[in-house]
Amino acid sequence: MSLIDELIDSLRCLPGVGPKSAQRMAYHLLERDRDGGRRIAHAISEAVERVGRCQSCRTLSEEDICPQCSDRRRDDSLICIVESPMDVLALEQSASYRGRYFVLMGHLSPLDGIGPDELGLDILDRRLASGDVREVVLATNTTVEGEATAHFISEMARAKGIRSTRIAHGVPLGGELEYVDSGTLGHAMTGRQEY
Ligand code: ZN
Repeated sequence: MSLIDELIDSLRCLPGVGPKSAQRMAYHLLERDRDGGRRIAHAISEAVERVGRCQSCRTLSEEDICPQCSDRRRDDSLICIVESPMDVLALEQSASYRGRYFVLMGHLSPLDGIGPDELGLDILDRRLASGDVREVVLATNTTVEGEATAHFISEMARAKGIRSTRIAHGVPLGGELEYVDSGTLGHAMTGRQEY
């Protein structure tokens, strides 16, 4: 495969990039913006090598402990459960939440072999056992899998005498958090209800 074809082909791993857009991007970089191309190449290779997971909440982080987990001004009594690091971003942008997070990196999906261990629920269990947490905020997606996962985690919390709340208000059924605008997400967080 020629270098140009390899570039076009590799760009297609990005979400929403079809053959035409990949072609346009590749030719744009080669014809008009080689510096931009070098910068992208460098940023991608640094990020894929050096961004790992936060040991406490599992979100993407280049430090062992991410900024949200190390921020001492946050409320340790609240822990918000989300499916992906993008959800953390969305909630942070809605400026409606100042507690801690736990990122599942997916949802329960027995048919795909994704059970409690794959979602790091043993780590979550230890955090719930620490005695700091008073409320688990369930902010998984409103899909069938997201609801099943929320239910499972609420049972874990109940077993430790911790209450659970669910943010669903305003989030459309079947919706993924990252596509909800921050105003709606803010209302959903503020108006969360007993689960
Ligand atoms: Zn963290």
